[in-house]
Amino acid sequence: MICEVIVDIAHSEVDRIFDYACDFPVQAGMRVAVPFGKYTATGFVVRVKEESDCPAEKLKKILRKAEDYPAINRECLMLAKKIAERYRCPLALSLRLFLPAEMRTGKVSERYRSYLSLNAEEFAIPPRAKAQLALAEYLRERGEEEASLLREKFGSAVTALLKKGVLKEEKRQVLRDPYKGAAANAPVRTLTPAQEKAVRAVRETEKTVTLLHGVTGSGKTEIYLTLIAEALAAGKTAIFLVPEISLTPQMLAQLRARFGGFAAILHSGLSAGERFDEWRRLREGSARIAIGARSAIFAPVENAGIIVIDEEHDGSYSSESSPRYNTFDVALLRTQYNGCKLVLGSATPAVETYRRAREGEFQLLSLPDRINARPLPEVQLVDMRREVKRGNPSPFSARLRERLEHCLQAGNQAILFLNRRGYSQTVICRDCGYVAKCKNCDVSLTYHSEEDCLKCHYCGTRYKMLSACPECGGVHLGYVGTGTQKVVGELKKLYPSARVLRMDVDTTSGKEGHYKILSAFARKEADILVGTQMVAKGHDFPSVTLVGILDADMSLHFPDYRSGERTFQLVTQVAGRSGRAGETGEVVLQTYDPENYILRFAKNYDYEGFYEHEITMRAATMFPPFAKIVRVMVTGEDEKETLEALKEVYGNLQAVYGAHSEEFLFFNRMHAPVKRIQRKFRYQVLMRITAPAVLKEIYGAVSEKRYKNVLVYVEENPSNLS
Ligand code: ADP
Ligand code: ZN
Repeated sequence: MICEVIVDIAHSEVDRIFDYACDFPVQAGMRVAVPFGKYTATGFVVRVKEESDCPAEKLKKILRKAEDYPAINRECLMLAKKIAERYRCPLALSLRLFLPAEMRTGKVSERYRSYLSLNAEEFAIPPRAKAQLALAEYLRERGEEEASLLREKFGSAVTALLKKGVLKEEKRQVLRDPYKGAAANAPVRTLTPAQEKAVRAVRETEKTVTLLHGVTGSGKTEIYLTLIAEALAAGKTAIFLVPEISLTPQMLAQLRARFGGFAAILHSGLSAGERFDEWRRLREGSARIAIGARSAIFAPVENAGIIVIDEEHDGSYSSESSPRYNTFDVALLRTQYNGCKLVLGSATPAVETYRRAREGEFQLLSLPDRINARPLPEVQLVDMRREVKRGNPSPFSARLRERLEHCLQAGNQAILFLNRRGYSQTVICRDCGYVAKCKNCDVSLTYHSEEDCLKCHYCGTRYKMLSACPECGGVHLGYVGTGTQKVVGELKKLYPSARVLRMDVDTTSGKEGHYKILSAFARKEADILVGTQMVAKGHDFPSVTLVGILDADMSLHFPDYRSGERTFQLVTQVAGRSGRAGETGEVVLQTYDPENYILRFAKNYDYEGFYEHEITMRAATMFPPFAKIVRVMVTGEDEKETLEALKEVYGNLQAVYGAHSEEFLFFNRMHAPVKRIQRKFRYQVLMRITAPAVLKEIYGAVSEKRYKNVLVYVEENPSNLS
C-alpha cells in the first residue's frame, strides 16, 4: 500500500505530497511518523493508493501510526485542502487548524485507566492464598473493577493473579470532564410565537443561510438551542459559534444543563488536557455539539445538522494569523458538504451580511421585539462639549452622575463602557467636535508623532499637523478618552461605598480572567462594572438598569471605513445590556458629536436607517461590499532584504494590475503607516479591487516565491491598516 503524506512542517519547500510505502493498514486522515531526511517527522496521510510513480526501492516506509484513528476526518480533509487552496498556504498549515495544538506538540497524553476481570470460569487457586480467593470472588460478583481500586483492596494478590493469567486487563481511555459540577436540569422553555415562527422558517427555507436579525434580548439564543436540539434528535451533530467572550458563566451553565455530555465546549478557560479531551469526545462521537469561538468551526464532528454563528458581525470571526481565513466561508463549505442549514444571528448584522440577505442570497428573519415585550432602554445623548464649557473635567457628565446615583440607590447594577479600540491618535477639537478626515477617503486621519503629521491609512496621503481647529479656530485639540483605571479611581472618590469591578485586558489575563469577573458581577458582588469592549457582548445580567457609554466618539473616529458600522454595533450592543428583566433600563451616551447620524440611528435603534445611509455612502466611495481592500504586507528585520522582496512582489502584482487595470480602484506600494513594529520593517502594497476574480491572481502573484527572512502575506478587508 502506498500513502500520500504531507509532512507537518509549515515550510514552502516541503509543501508537497510525498509517497511512502506502508505495510500495515492506514486510512486517509491519519497522522503517521515517517522518516524525513535525517529525522523522523509527523505527517498526515492524505490519500491511500496502490501504486507510486516513484520506484519501489526508493520509497521509504511509514514507521508507525500516531493514533489508531484518523485525526482528520474526510470532511475536514476536504476543508483543509480548500483552505490551503483559497488562501494559498501550505497544506500542513491548514491541516493544523483541525487539531488541538496540544496534540501536535505532544504535550498531552491520553489518560488510560485499566480494568480487570476474570479470564475464565475455571481456575485453580491454592486454598491458602486467601487474598487471591477473595479477589476472584469479588470479581465474580462484580464482573470488572478498576485496577488501582483492586490493588488498594487486595494488594499483591492482583499482580499474582495477573501473572497466572487468571485476570485479564483492559485499558480504557479516560476523558477529563471540565464541567463535573454543572447542573443537569434545564428549564425547557416554551417558545414564544415569534421564536416558533423563526425556528419553522429556518427548518422550511430552501436557502442555505438564514440571517436572524433580532434586537438584543429578543430570545435568539433559545432559537439556536431549539434548532440544535432538533439536529441532535435527528441523529446529527451541530456547531455553535460564539465570540469567545459570550461564553460567560451563565451561558456555559445553560449549555451544560441543556445538552449535558453531548456538548463539547471549547473555550480559553480550559486546560490543555481538557481541550484535548473535548476534541476527542467530538472526534469519537460521544459529544455531538461543538461550542466555541472561531476555531470551533474546525471541530471534528461528522454529519452536521446545523451550524450557528451568533453575533455574526463580531470582528473575532476573522483570523489574524496565517491562514487568514474567514469563519463564515469555512462554515458555508461545511454546510454545503453536509447539506445542512447555516444560521447567522445578530442585533446589528454586518453591513455586508445584511446586504446579502436583502439581495435575497440569505433568508432574512427579523425579531423586532424583546421577549415579553420588554422595552428597549431609552438612550440619552449627552453633549460633552457643554461639560467642557461648564468646566467639568471628569469623565462623567452631570446627567450620568445623577442617573448613576439613582441606580445605586435603587439597589440595581450599572455598566460603564469605555472604548479602547479607538486608542489610535485621532485628533479631535474639544470645542466643536471636529475631527480631521482624509479628502479622498472620508476616513479619519491618524496622528504619527515621529513625523509630526496626519496620515490617511487608506491612500497614504499626508497632512500637516493642525495647530488650531479649521472649523471653529479653537485650540483645545487633543485625544478623547480616559483609561478604565482612571474611571475606577474617580468612581471610588464619588461613591466610596459602591463596589466597583474593572474589566479590561489588564484585569482579564490568566486562564479564567473574564469568567471570574463576569460571574462575580452576575452574583451581584459588585454594583458597577467598568470595562472596554468585553462588557459589550452578549451578557444577560438581569439587575443592570443603567449603561453609561463614556466616549462614543472613540470608535466613531477610528481610521477604518467600518468605524460608523462599528460604532452603531457597539452602542447597540452595550445598550442592550440594560433593562433585560424587571425594571426598565436606560442608557447615557456621552459624545462630543451629538449631531452625528450614526449616534442618532443608534439612539433610535434604527438599524434599517443606519443601513440605508451606510450602504449609500459605501457605494458612493466604493468601499466594501462594493470593492475589496487588499493589502499585501512585506515585513522583515533586514531592511535591504525586505525591500528586495517588496520589489519582487510588487513586480508580480504589477503584472496582475497591468492585465486587469479596469478592476483596480487603487494600486500603490508604500511604507506601512507604522514603519517598524517589533524591529521589523513594514512595507505594503495597497489595492482596492472590484472583481473577486482578481483576488486569486493576487494570491498567486504573492505566493510565487517564498523568502527566508521576509514574511509576505495578504490581508482582505483588514480591520487595522496601521
Ligand atoms: P438575545 O440572544 O436575542 O439577546 P436572549 O436569548 O439572551 O436574547 O434572551 C433574552 C432573555 O429572554 C433571556 O433572559 C432569556 O432567558 C429569556 N427568554 C428567551 N426565550 C424565552 C422564552 N421563550 N420564554 C421566557 N423567557 C425567554
Ligand atoms: Zn485617503
